[in-house]
Amino acid sequence: MKISELGEFAFIDHFAPVFTKNLKKGVLGIGDDCAVITLDDRRVMLITTDMLIEDSHFLRQSIPPADLGYKSLAVNLSDIAAMGGIPNYAFLSLGIPKDVEVEWMDLFFSGMHELCNEANVQLLGGDTTRSGNHLIINIGVIGEALIEHVKYRSSALPGDIICVTGELGDSGGGLRLILENIAAGDLEDLLVKRHHRPRAHLAEGQWLGAQKGVHAMMDVSDGIDSDLHRIMERSLCGAQVDLNSLPCSSELQEACVKYNWDLYELAATGGEDYCLICTIDPQAGESIMREFKEKFERDLFPIGRIISENTLNYYDQDILVRFKRHGFDHFA
Ligand code: ADP
Ligand code: MG
Repeated sequence: MKISELGEFAFIDHFAPVFTKNLKKGVLGIGDDCAVITLDDRRVMLITTDMLIEDSHFLRQSIPPADLGYKSLAVNLSDIAAMGGIPNYAFLSLGIPKDVEVEWMDLFFSGMHELCNEANVQLLGGDTTRSGNHLIINIGVIGEALIEHVKYRSSALPGDIICVTGELGDSGGGLRLILENIAAGDLEDLLVKRHHRPRAHLAEGQWLGAQKGVHAMMDVSDGIDSDLHRIMERSLCGAQVDLNSLPCSSELQEACVKYNWDLYELAATGGEDYCLICTIDPQAGESIMREFKEKFERDLFPIGRIISENTLNYYDQDILVRFKRHGFDHFA
């Protein structure tokens, strides 16, 4: 059977069980944004790794090298944010094709170093090898959190309010502009920039981690459509999403009119937003959203509800909507 017939997530579920059985006490393995290892009676260590491969994750000719360095680390930090943690250390492994120049890699490292400084992360090691024709970047990040602050994909409960910490779809719109080779203007530049330089929502993740009323949390890497399915699988629940409440930037709305794109589909399935999606106890919803706004001067956007039935339904003014495409799957 081809892996594409299973899909990325069913494939992980297919090989993972033998490795998740009989783990040492206080250890969580495959299945969440990070592995979690208990350090002592107060703290856990968080570990995550993510790989970016030329032509699958980025086009070397179109991404500025400094942005690629920044983004490669940002997508890893986003998984630490997703657990409510603080990132500390990073490891970087590179497979470099022979045509890549030192000056280009210097710019790549300047972007990565910029985010190391911003996030107070130290690069401690890695590996460097030659690769065929594709640049390969793999990063691992180690972080930590207080035990009671860690949020899992598996803790959503029926009735929870589903919220996101940022606007959805800009990155997906930027990717579409890149793939369709659409010439640049200010609007296009901004969406492409959102795709090339995502911000990991670390401060938001740490704050949400500290809120008891926040139940489940993960980062939005493949689009809320795919990522909500991950929460549903782990929490054995379903979700309903109100498309009219999806937060979309004015730039994305403008681009959707200009290029005749489906705004809701892009917001739900575009992917690589790298904001956070969380589910909140309905009793605590109002106060958490108010305090979030006071703290970050931005909204925590409610977009739907967790339900007990195992389906994901989208509503546009009470009418059930089905999308033509779904969230990102590397093998689809
Ligand atoms: P994320 O996008 O947050 O990095 P994924 O959805 O890609 O997470 O992966 C789901 C889970 O499967 C994670 O816990 C990840 O560590 C694990 N995983 C993915 N690929 C592998 C692999 N090749 N070997 C072991 N674990 C893996
Ligand atoms: Mg993740």
